Amino acid sequence: MSFQNPVFIPGPTNMPESLRKACDMPTIDHRSPLFGQILHPARKAVQTILKSKSAEVFIFPSTGTGGWETALTNCLSAGDTVLAARNGMFSHRWIDMCQRHGLNVEIVETPWGHGLPADRYEEILTADKDHKIKVVLATHNETATGVKSDIAAVRRALDAAGHPALLFVDGVSSIASMDFRFDDWGVDVAVTGSQKGFMLPAGLAIVGFSAKAMDATKTATLPRTFFDVHDMAKGYDNNAYPYTPAVGLMNGLNTACDMILKEGLDNVFARHTRIATGVRAAIDAWGLELCAVSPDVYSDTVSAIRTPVGFNATDIVTHAANTYGVAFGVGLGEVAGKVFRIGHLGSLTDVMMLSGLATAEMCMADLGLDIKLGSGVAAAQEFYRANPALKQKDAA
Ligand SMILES: *Cc1c(COP(=O)(O)O)cnc(C)c1O
Repeated sequence: MSFQNPVFIPGPTNMPESLRKACDMPTIDHRSPLFGQILHPARKAVQTILKSKSAEVFIFPSTGTGGWETALTNCLSAGDTVLAARNGMFSHRWIDMCQRHGLNVEIVETPWGHGLPADRYEEILTADKDHKIKVVLATHNETATGVKSDIAAVRRALDAAGHPALLFVDGVSSIASMDFRFDDWGVDVAVTGSQKGFMLPAGLAIVGFSAKAMDATKTATLPRTFFDVHDMAKGYDNNAYPYTPAVGLMNGLNTACDMILKEGLDNVFARHTRIATGVRAAIDAWGLELCAVSPDVYSDTVSAIRTPVGFNATDIVTHAANTYGVAFGVGLGEVAGKVFRIGHLGSLTDVMMLSGLATAEMCMADLGLDIKLGSGVAAAQEFYRANPALKQKDAA
């Protein structure tokens, strides 16, 4: 590997120098008011990024996976029923976690490459007259397949069915990179981590709870200690924490939120869309296809690219690392060997992206795929020339 090249994996993402510095700070007493000056602004800024006026934000020393566990264990009891679609590795892992916690998961098997089937959710919720389903899980952005789902449509499904289930959304690879509307979509628990859209090292689980989710915690009986939101909330009230917080990361989170809000959420989202559109132009020029089946589900943070049948897509990733010191993402689960992934989220510019596309071309050509060097790069260049980053920002 090379420390000079950017990474093109869909998390952890490239860290801006200012964030690396913000995480590197002297030891402070986390029971002193100084800690409150880091904790409270970070929680407030995350709430703004979630587009919520009232979500209770909790920040654990953990990762996105711990955020999943926080959502489940605080709001559910053993034997409760959860509705979830499986359309990729991350939705699969969340379902697996539910099952390991003794929850009963009604699984809607969905082809990988497709978005969440809101219409099936509506049928199932409508048929659930006794309201046995307590929670609906929704993976906003399936990082394994590069598929974005319509969370507003899942909310509409719940409302159309008149169903009171809570809506839990995995926004680990969307929040702070793609539009996310906690309040408008009626999200009850949103889950993310520090190492994707927030451009920080891994180490924080960041979750938002609605008032309805907080209510559910009062009767939920799944065992929880480390991830107990009441222990956490009690600490917050005293500028403190139930155990030792990851102070440096939380300081970094503050700075990351400042950066994101200063750029402006709409500008951040537009930048991701613009960069992703250039990547998709390149893929098209290569004559390759996305795993995502249609433009309405194309993710602006990660592209999973199908390689020709008989070719092992993982070879591209291995070759890129060994030969050019560049990291791409491998295919996971059902699409292992069938796709390679280009992450395009977080701290990224058009120019960085072009270097990644150029590297992917070299790898594919080296490995004997019928790729004309420069073809994808040229397509992306044309798109970026027509939609330059700075002009767009000035006009906004
Ligand atoms: C990365 C990711 C996770 C897992 O997060 P960790 O921080 O690795 O625990 C969960 N869901 C999605 C959609 C992800 O992209």
